[in-house]
Amino acid sequence: MTSCTAVKTTCPYCGVGCGVEATRLPDGAIRIAGDSGHPANLGKLCVKGSALGDTLGPEKRLLQPQVRVDGTLQRASWDAALDKVAGGLRAIIDAHGPDAVALYVSGQLLTEDYYVANKFMKGYVGSANIDTNSRLCMSSAVAGHKRAFGEDIVPGCYEDLELADMVVLVGSNTAWCHPILFQRIARIKESRPEMKLVVIDPRRTATCELADVHLPVKPGTDVWLFNGLLCYLAQEGVIDDAFVTQHSAGLDAALAAAHVDCSDPLQVAKICKVDAHALLAFYQAFAATRKVVTAFSQGVNQSSSGTDKVNSIINCHLATGRIGQPGMGPFSLTGQPNAMGGREVGGLANMLAAHLELDNPLHRDTVQTFWDSPRMAHKPGLKAVDLFHAIEAGKVKAVWIIATNPLVSMPDADQVRRALAKCELVVVSDISAESDTNAHADVLLPALGWGEKDGTVTNSERRISRQRAFLPAPGEARADWDVLCEVATRMGYAGFDFTSPQAIFDEHARLSTFRNVGEQARLFNLAGLDKLDAAQYDALAPQQWPQGRARLFGDGRFAHADGRARFVPTPPRAPRNAPDAEYPLILNTGRVRDQWHTMTRTGKAAKLSGHVAEAFIDLHPQDALLYSVREGELARISSAWGAMVARVVHGGGIARGQVFVPIHWSDANASDARVGAVVNPVVDPVSGEPEFKHTPVRIEQF
Ligand code: SF4
Repeated sequence: MTSCTAVKTTCPYCGVGCGVEATRLPDGAIRIAGDSGHPANLGKLCVKGSALGDTLGPEKRLLQPQVRVDGTLQRASWDAALDKVAGGLRAIIDAHGPDAVALYVSGQLLTEDYYVANKFMKGYVGSANIDTNSRLCMSSAVAGHKRAFGEDIVPGCYEDLELADMVVLVGSNTAWCHPILFQRIARIKESRPEMKLVVIDPRRTATCELADVHLPVKPGTDVWLFNGLLCYLAQEGVIDDAFVTQHSAGLDAALAAAHVDCSDPLQVAKICKVDAHALLAFYQAFAATRKVVTAFSQGVNQSSSGTDKVNSIINCHLATGRIGQPGMGPFSLTGQPNAMGGREVGGLANMLAAHLELDNPLHRDTVQTFWDSPRMAHKPGLKAVDLFHAIEAGKVKAVWIIATNPLVSMPDADQVRRALAKCELVVVSDISAESDTNAHADVLLPALGWGEKDGTVTNSERRISRQRAFLPAPGEARADWDVLCEVATRMGYAGFDFTSPQAIFDEHARLSTFRNVGEQARLFNLAGLDKLDAAQYDALAPQQWPQGRARLFGDGRFAHADGRARFVPTPPRAPRNAPDAEYPLILNTGRVRDQWHTMTRTGKAAKLSGHVAEAFIDLHPQDALLYSVREGELARISSAWGAMVARVVHGGGIARGQVFVPIHWSDANASDARVGAVVNPVVDPVSGEPEFKHTPVRIEQF
């Protein structure tokens, strides 16, 4: 933490995972610069990353533990707060069993925090009721990868986006949500204008400005579009027969499912409501171009058919053998800084650490033996939406929420408010004193934030990077892993005597190679990183797992037991809730360029508010006329689940029948602007990921 020495760390926002150099200047200010040595960004930062220094002051920080006494949160010692948490959890477990308690954590956590939280719940409490807000952004990609590849693996790397002759961006406003990656694509497009960029998105976003083709699909019809592509590839004889025969299984079944509705591109164009010539031109270009990367994000994942959407994309890459080679492959763009690291330690309620499976007895035994833990969760826990329903139903009686703000970010967010109001024990660990969720806490625990905490994160291309501390802990804030260990120890659990993030990483890395053979062979492993001493861990340079490999599956060997990839039949199905006379518009939600999540950090940087200053409802001018609302005035959006209010804008990118509202604003920073309260709580049946992109709503004057 020496002043005026640049500390290399990693940006805490999106899944690009850019390297940052942070320098404490003599006057106390923090100078932020891109790390030219980090392979993700080579010295560049987007506007959010550049403004990190403005988000670090003590203002609005939670600085001391608080415990609710007689209905009021009052300052408490750490000792008293930890006793209250440990005693409360212990009493509920003793009275109602391990499944009566839960943790709800976050893709903002460092891998080390995530590891300890999962060990605590799955190996010691003995319940898998630990889910994460990553459920809301990428669990469909996880499920799709596992079905196709046998393991949750991103096959490629960022360089593939530069080596490709065609980049297809599906459900991704990359220009705003993964800006540095988009800049890399833009630079290639400038030097090789013949590189084709196709954007598939219901909205005309900033990303479309660079696109050769924009296919504004009807919301929810992506599976039809990619099933249609699979049929077209077969009809045109573009299937890579050798690859399919030697390295995959199930093409015939996938084709049969695709043929039902999607064998005629004209019919597909009609269903997807896109121009038939443009669709056919896309199919032709895909068929004719070997080096294609199809990158997808929340527009694909956040859907009641999100996992099928992912597999319909992967099917097209498997059919053409375009995977694991330079410049080609399906590519999941993760939303959060450490959604990938969370997956590595079993961060979802249906996973175990080290990419092992919770419902596999052999895998459970492996993890329990390694942990030497007294018990092991033996069935998947509750996924996010089900978890908050179980809390409201009184089945889950205690929840510990760490580094996330579900009162704003969950679908049907008013249900979350009702659930927390009924919950016997609500513990909240956060950096912010003003998170909406704090108001429901029985115990509030101050956490370290970016610049103060130490550990690792993994970005979208499987690259592990260090987040390093360069600031002292403010007030009495402590690291999340440290607090979890304290609570575990007070509950009588051994195995939580970690004294540093390095000790946790060491255990995590050793577990990743433990019994990694035979039936349990998996690609995820940290061989080579499992014997780092403190100095080596501190100096750890960004690197991809496993063993620095940029691409996987290039040899045609996948992670299923027979080594073959699987085509997954994806019979298309419409979003669960359709618009009707009462709710005639389709609500789509997403990010704006300069804000992050619920603004507890980016909201502190004045310059980030210059881009979009307040919540808005973007709709087509003709719909504004139809529903008697006016640009610049406030309007209310209502669904069967809730309502919100914001100012009407005509952004120019929205089609008739749709509205778009950003996810960032909440009761803490605006009035009645929580779009989460409006979103339907429908989830994908495989992944449990909510349908944030398709809620029937109506709009009216406020
Ligand atoms: Fe941070 Fe993402 Fe911007 Fe990079 S692109 S600086 S990781 S927000």
